[in-house]
Amino acid sequence: MTSRSVYLETFGCQMNELDSELVLGQLRQLGYRLTGEAADADIVLYNTCSVREHAEQKVWSRLGELAIRKKEQPGLVVGVLGCLAERDGTALVKRMPVVDVLCGPGELDKLPSLIDNAVRTRTALLADETPYQRASDRSASQIALQGSASRRSAVLAAAEDSLEMLDLSRSVSPIDPDPDRPRSSAYVRITRGCNKFCTYCVVPFTRGAEIHRPPDHIVDECKRLADAGVIEITLLGQTVNHYRFEHGSAVAVNGVIQPQKGRSYAGGHRRDPFAGEQTTTFADLLARIHEEVPSIQRLRFVTSYPRDFGDDVLEVIRQSPRICRYLHVPAQSGSDRILQMMNRGYTVAEYLEFLDRARQFLDQPEIGRPLMLSGDFIVGFPTETDEDFEATIALMRRARYKNSFIFKYSPRPGTTAINKYKDDVPEAVKRERNTRMLALQNEIGEEIGREQIGREFSVLIEGLSRRETKKRARQAPAPGTVSLTVSARTAPAGEAAADDSACDSGCGSGPKCSSAVVESRPEVATEVSSEPVQLTGRTDGDQIVFLNIPARSESGRTAVSMVGEIVRVRIESAQALGLSAVLL
Ligand code: SAM
Ligand code: SF4
Repeated sequence: MTSRSVYLETFGCQMNELDSELVLGQLRQLGYRLTGEAADADIVLYNTCSVREHAEQKVWSRLGELAIRKKEQPGLVVGVLGCLAERDGTALVKRMPVVDVLCGPGELDKLPSLIDNAVRTRTALLADETPYQRASDRSASQIALQGSASRRSAVLAAAEDSLEMLDLSRSVSPIDPDPDRPRSSAYVRITRGCNKFCTYCVVPFTRGAEIHRPPDHIVDECKRLADAGVIEITLLGQTVNHYRFEHGSAVAVNGVIQPQKGRSYAGGHRRDPFAGEQTTTFADLLARIHEEVPSIQRLRFVTSYPRDFGDDVLEVIRQSPRICRYLHVPAQSGSDRILQMMNRGYTVAEYLEFLDRARQFLDQPEIGRPLMLSGDFIVGFPTETDEDFEATIALMRRARYKNSFIFKYSPRPGTTAINKYKDDVPEAVKRERNTRMLALQNEIGEEIGREQIGREFSVLIEGLSRRETKKRARQAPAPGTVSLTVSARTAPAGEAAADDSACDSGCGSGPKCSSAVVESRPEVATEVSSEPVQLTGRTDGDQIVFLNIPARSESGRTAVSMVGEIVRVRIESAQALGLSAVLL
């Protein structure tokens, strides 16, 4: 056991948030103390994203600051985890010797031993220090990277998948900061990696090949989370609707069924062609979780790949009252020529056909369940002309997303696009296209918002609104105020790309780049005030709702005690960032 303290900051998508949660759970079980202040920590870890350059810059600047701090605190252990570590490998340590631990996303189960070795190595370096060789200038160099080649090995399916143990070890309740207020939302990974190789994207290189977790493991995890008080689960995968587990070829190691490599097949089907008794398709998995874990009141999944989205999945969603009417289906571009250069594998017509089909099955405003869509777009992809861009604008108008994540193309080392295509759209043009799309998305989002006025919805209260949090931060805490952490999930994830809180990482599937420090929950105070408290929550279509609630009701109930609950509301008005509602 150790009494060392760990600070972990997360950049990027929900997958990274989940990885951080699992890693912290493991470190906590080993006796590490978790701290929300980097300055207090013996071990500083960054879980990184390399989807866009901007997200990387933040990490480089943090590392630069730590290099200065290490001169004063040479025993400090610094770790870079995640996609940047995997992509840059040892070159990262050469560039930044302040880094002691490098751990790719496929090796996170090894992190505790890497940290332990790094702590010991730093002690040895300190003992060996000479005026010419300062310990603070040397890395303890503990490295675990998978390298994309190893994950593509033909024997993978037969090998023990130790990363699965990290998911299985999930410490469901101890990670919660406030035992009196169990959190209500959680992520559950169903697939890892990606086989799509979109030409701009680093994910297949940093997270490796698509791997599907055994359905029993997923269902058990959902049950354990439900037992711990979770009522909303978001299933995660880069192409989440590609999930399939073929039981006939399942491999067990020491009695534990191992995750399975995704099979490649020609898409365009309406039903999973491998469906049958020996297979758990994505539709089967959704139906299983819905049936076997009824206390999960909201089941979501991100991110969906538009091609191969079968009617089987849409049917299950339609039949299942607790599966949310929300699909995040990135289009990336509205130009067939650009889509082809991106290797997206569908045309605009096919994409729109899917949206029409999804709406036919799932858009039921008459029963209070409109279908809400969100999308991702990349503007300024190499050779993108005004005409291509106008086609993207037309697609956005036609698709009517409630929100979109819009990114300027960022050439990524190691991808096909950076090697094959010149980044020839000037930055000013990318910026202008980005601004135009955001403006259009805001317009459409507001229009969709106005359509909801007068409608009644169930809303899961997630926490204080950003405005309320800022208001409280400005007010000095009253003497005797008790500080309490409340939130159903990471700070209200704005309709990110349509406001200034957009994820810097370009993750798209992630609502925002959270500086998810330890528990990633906003702090609020439970002072008794006569002023109403602004809470925020989401409809099952993932629309943000603001509610102004008396700080304390006549029955004595405080507004913040509603966090984590599902309440019925009526929408009164709509703004760019969300809907305002009254409690019913
Ligand atoms: N798997 C999901 C999919 O296919 O839609 C998304 C995963 S990706 C990490 C999230 C988003 O980041 C993508 O949808 C894309 O819009 C954006 N993105 C990825 N690579 C990018 C790049 N090189 N430049 C700009 N945006 C990028
Ligand atoms: Fe895979 Fe999505 Fe990246 Fe394409 S954009 S390679 S589907 S993660």
